[in-house]
Amino acid sequence: MKEIIYVDHSATTYVKKEVLDKMLPYFTVKYGNASSIYSKGIESKEAIDKARNQVSEALGCCECEIYFTAGGSESDNLALLGIARANKAKGNHIITTKIEHLGILETCKRLEKEGFEVTYLDVDNTGLVDIEDVERAIKSTTILISVMFANNEIGTIQPIEAIGRIARCRGVYFHTDAVQAIGNVHIDTRKMHIDALSLSAHKFYGPKGVGALYIRNGINFDSIITGGHQEQNKRAGTENVPGIVGLGAAIELANNNIDCYNEKLYRLREYCIEQIMKNIPGVILNGHRTKRLPGNINISIKGIQVGTLLLMLNDVGICASSGSACTSGNTNPSHVLVALGMNSDISYCSLRITLGEENTCEDIDYIICNLYRIVHKLRRV
Ligand SMILES: *Cc1c(COP(=O)(O)O)cnc(C)c1O
Repeated sequence: MKEIIYVDHSATTYVKKEVLDKMLPYFTVKYGNASSIYSKGIESKEAIDKARNQVSEALGCCECEIYFTAGGSESDNLALLGIARANKAKGNHIITTKIEHLGILETCKRLEKEGFEVTYLDVDNTGLVDIEDVERAIKSTTILISVMFANNEIGTIQPIEAIGRIARCRGVYFHTDAVQAIGNVHIDTRKMHIDALSLSAHKFYGPKGVGALYIRNGINFDSIITGGHQEQNKRAGTENVPGIVGLGAAIELANNNIDCYNEKLYRLREYCIEQIMKNIPGVILNGHRTKRLPGNINISIKGIQVGTLLLMLNDVGICASSGSACTSGNTNPSHVLVALGMNSDISYCSLRITLGEENTCEDIDYIICNLYRIVHKLRRV
């Protein structure tokens, strides 16, 4: 038995050995500034160029459409603030959903303070956006639609291609936060009519603190970090070369393994859901039954305080998470679960298990066994 069973891969993942090995020389030996003209600088610039190519290959776009950032949150901020501010003359209306990551929702609130109008679309009780709602929400002043590819709490995967088609037809830019989707879903920015896309390396076995934003050629956007001329003048600051190298290596690996990885996680997920439903009464599976990330399981367990449950799982070496803020003693319900229309006590807290590469069938058995024991115990008191 492993010491720790980690099933919180949507929160973050470890860095794969192959990825780390590629990164290491850029900390100690190949440390040149990519803006310098001597060979040590060129060496770093070439490493960044290679990573940019690896990202563009994975997304089916041009290298010149990739901007490296410090992660998913910054990419979300840059996409929304950047596109909205630069296109204000065309209109001030933005469409998003109620279940976005805070990187999007908080940025939308900022834009509202700057005079933008934001429509927050409802989702159905499985977390799906209705494409007719998207269509209906578009008006003459709409400049941008931002709908996440896959939800980080409940794993629901949105009809991205259909939304992209509507946006393109209506002449509205379409951004998607694909932080959870990379490595799990095949993404083709051209075919899906995606104009902008956020990603973050630490969600697919790359390092933390590095991400990228794809923005289609020809779309105007303002930078939010100003200073030097890095990243085509759009993101100032000396590049995080080791991080960028790691991101490039990780996305290439993830993309090459996507089918295999998917199948493995899918089988484990289905086994886990089946075992939970069979053994633990009073459980509801949150999110869509099939249109969901292969490794995502999100359940509400009747009569159970998830904060206590998570601590007891931790006592037996299981790292899982709550779909909401309950863990920190915060009683605010998850904005995602509330948007699903579940406002009874049972759904205020949920248990999120997100599987990854190193998980096995035995891990699931161990989790179920302990979950059964703990739930039984908690229900008795
Ligand atoms: C993790 C995550 C982010 C934030 O990415 P960071 O790199 O941690 O800033 C944004 N959106 C989604 C959907 C995420 O899961």
